[in-house]
Amino acid sequence: MRARPQPLTKAFPVSLARQLSLLLLSIGMLSSLAANGAYSDIIDSFELTRSSQFVVQGKTFDDIESSFGTRIQSSSGLYDFHRGIDIDGTQGDNILAPTGGLFWEYREFSGGGHTVILQHDLNNTISYNGRNYDHYYTYYMHLFDDGGGGVAGTDDVISGWTPQVTTVSAGDLIGKMGNSGTPPGGGSYADHLHLELRFGARSSLEFQLANPGTTQHGFDPHLNPMLLFTPYTYASSGPGVYHQNAALSNQANAGSDINFDITYTNDDMPLLNEVTVSLEEIGSGSIVKTHTLDLNQRIGFDASSTATLDTADTSKPYFSPVTPSFTASDYKNELVVPGSWTSGFGDSDHRVNVTLKDLWENSETLSVTVVPEPRTYAIISSACLLGLILVRRRFSQPLTQTDRS
Ligand SMILES: [Zn+2]
Repeated sequence: MRARPQPLTKAFPVSLARQLSLLLLSIGMLSSLAANGAYSDIIDSFELTRSSQFVVQGKTFDDIESSFGTRIQSSSGLYDFHRGIDIDGTQGDNILAPTGGLFWEYREFSGGGHTVILQHDLNNTISYNGRNYDHYYTYYMHLFDDGGGGVAGTDDVISGWTPQVTTVSAGDLIGKMGNSGTPPGGGSYADHLHLELRFGARSSLEFQLANPGTTQHGFDPHLNPMLLFTPYTYASSGPGVYHQNAALSNQANAGSDINFDITYTNDDMPLLNEVTVSLEEIGSGSIVKTHTLDLNQRIGFDASSTATLDTADTSKPYFSPVTPSFTASDYKNELVVPGSWTSGFGDSDHRVNVTLKDLWENSETLSVTVVPEPRTYAIISSACLLGLILVRRRFSQPLTQTDRS
């Protein structure tokens, strides 16, 4: 028996969002990572430790070339679920600790190359998947290491450091940007930093699956590393307001695909975390069906392996990313509401509601009216062609821009 969620409204209160999350939990739609219901505890903890220290000296959020979540990987041309963020730069750029922590390890991965790992204390102990966690980890990958040669490399930066003893403070130099590691399809990366945030566990999903019984946590620990940073915007509306544009690009009748562009520009930060699509019967307000895609909690994704995580389920609303071109200015992720999902609901007026939530659970709803079949009329939209999220909750401090060159 499936309980019916309440209709989504424009002023979608967070408390209702959490009720809906609990409802979805109760009907077993969530992955194991979300099955603990502790996401609000996690963001509450990170909210207390957000940093205004960016991770690459001389760079800003403008230099993020690939965000957390679904994308077309530029090196392979394949769809994948990117479990970190990429920051563009050049070899030798200084990598700075965004927040203080313990130097955990310096090691080399075949794919990730030379990597510095830091351990950080959570603000409070969080119960997660039946275990208590006090730490999270940050990974700095593809670093430059000249093996002791004459050029300053990460090996020189960490010379004399002792794993699990040496501590670093926010802003400390912890490595040098490079292009080490090998992409899945071979070849080499462009110079960039791949930054990961792993909550509660160091072991990746891949390692856990390949080494059951050694360090089995049972979940994919990756969260969007934008949780580390204090959000800000360059927009004229001033600091403290975060913009995430979502534009309806292809209106459609019931039974046809409906596409939304979800875009971030140089004025934005890639903070989008969750999209809930619902099909509402306009007269009664009944929600006929609903589907949620949540990047951090893997809702709507199959996180049982990286192979399934890297495969889109196109039978329900899904992200259809476009190939990035190494500039954040034209990064785009498309949300597709497949025609098969709305087909058969054209006998009375229906509305597709799309609620977007950022990492911090701020939300905004767009809605589109789906025309009854037969497809005689152009779509009647109850929303503007451009939806705009103006999020004011939680964000109060602009990033200092002293590191911008
Ligand atoms: Zn990456």
